[in-house]
Formats: sequence, structure tokens, C-alpha cells
Amino acid sequence: MFTRDEPIMVAVSGGKDSLALWDVLIEDGYRTAGLYLDLGIYEYSQESKAKCEAFASARGQKLYVERVADVVGAPIPDVQRATRRPTCSACGLSKRYLMNRAALEHGYPVVATGHNLDDEAATLFGSVLHWQTDALSRQSPALPSTHPKLVRRVKPLYRLSELETAGYSFLRGIDYIVEECPFSKGATSLAHKELLNRLEEASPGAKHNFLFGFLDKARVAFERLESVPLTECTRCGQVTTGEICAFCKLADQVRRRA
Ligand code: SF4
Repeated sequence: MFTRDEPIMVAVSGGKDSLALWDVLIEDGYRTAGLYLDLGIYEYSQESKAKCEAFASARGQKLYVERVADVVGAPIPDVQRATRRPTCSACGLSKRYLMNRAALEHGYPVVATGHNLDDEAATLFGSVLHWQTDALSRQSPALPSTHPKLVRRVKPLYRLSELETAGYSFLRGIDYIVEECPFSKGATSLAHKELLNRLEEASPGAKHNFLFGFLDKARVAFERLESVPLTECTRCGQVTTGEICAFCKLADQVRRRA
């Protein structure tokens, strides 16, 4: 995922997983900086930002903060209203774009996120349910850089369950935001997590087998299927598969609506 010498940008949300990840990397002596993306989601964003700032300053770490509204033209709840796109879809697109851009701008070759085994198994389940072959090809704990303007994305906690990262955070005394994002209520990813938890209860190890079986045996087939050439967006210069990237199109829609 990364070497000892590489600086790592850790994308932090203020939640237990990303702060646990940052804590482990600091403790292990890696050179890190945090990146907090301010989504502008009411009190949730204010509180989660405060948690990240307190975590970084207590450990003498650099924290970069990027406001989505400064780049897209509106905070996430307004982006949804302007574009009619599902909130989490607009949010996910913005986060992926801004993470890559921030890492490139500040000279970090790799971005680490706090996704755990439960997150990864639920994402895989959703992709399989709809046979989203493009998503299946990208489902990996370590996505390499396939273009000079694309940094690596890694998920070092992908072997650990949510319960384990929560236990670690508790034992380390990490002060994280307990409330979930208000837009996560009713999200299909939560329904998938519940289903997988029921499966896990009936058949311990099911989640692990599902995810690792896919990574070991099936992923390579989807990777071959979906390899697409990358170019640079004619507007912003970031990596895309077409002429204008999806993020610039989203920002255009928001501006037009405004
Ligand atoms: S739940 Fe949806 S809107 Fe909230 S942070 Fe996650 S992706 Fe963004």
C-alpha cells in the first residue's frame, strides 16, 4: 500500500475508523497529514470538523481542510436540490475528486481511507446485487495510480470489522463523532450491512469469506473487463474517461441552477 518513506494523506471524517487509522499510522512512525472535507452538512459537519481539528492539534499533525462549497458552488445538501442527484452520489463523487486533487496539490502520492471489512463487504454486496461490473473492477483495498495525475488510494483497515475499530478507538481514548451523517438514514448500504450482519450471526466468517473470496478469485476477471483509457478533463485537468469530468459537470449543474 505504501512504503516507510512515503508521506500519506489520511482522509478523515471525524468518525472512529478514519481517526483510528490516522492514530495507528502516527504511532507506527509514518509521515502523515489529515484531509478533512467539509461537506457543509449542518451541525454534523461542524462537529466532525471540530473532532478532526482537536485530534490533529493534540498530536501535532497537519490537517488540510477543503470546503466542498468553495469548489462545487454549494454545500452538499444544496447540491442535491440543484441537481436532483441522490445526495450520497453527489457527495461520493465530490469526495473522490477532492481527495485526489488535494493529494496532488500537496505532494502526497497516496490517500488512505478508514474503510473497514463491514464497509467493504457491504459495497461488494451492493455491486453484486446490481452487477455493476465497473464498481467490481474498482473494489480493492489498494487502487494503484494508473495515470500521473491519479494518486493511489488504499484502505489499510479492510481486514478489521467495525466492532474492532470501535474497540481500538475506545481503548485509545480517541474522541470521535458518534452521530452518523443525517443522509445515511435509509441508505441502501446500511440495509446491506444489516443483511450481512444477520448472515454473519447465522454463519460466522461469512463477511470475511465473501469479501476475501472475491478479492482472491473473482476481482481479476472484472479488472480485465473494465480497463478504460484515462485522459485529462479539458476544464480542470483532473483525470477522466471523457472530455469533461463528472465533477465539472456536477459543478456546472449547480452553477446553472444558482
Ligand atoms: S452518508 Fe452520504 S451524504 Fe453523508 S457523508 Fe456519507 S456519502 Fe456523504
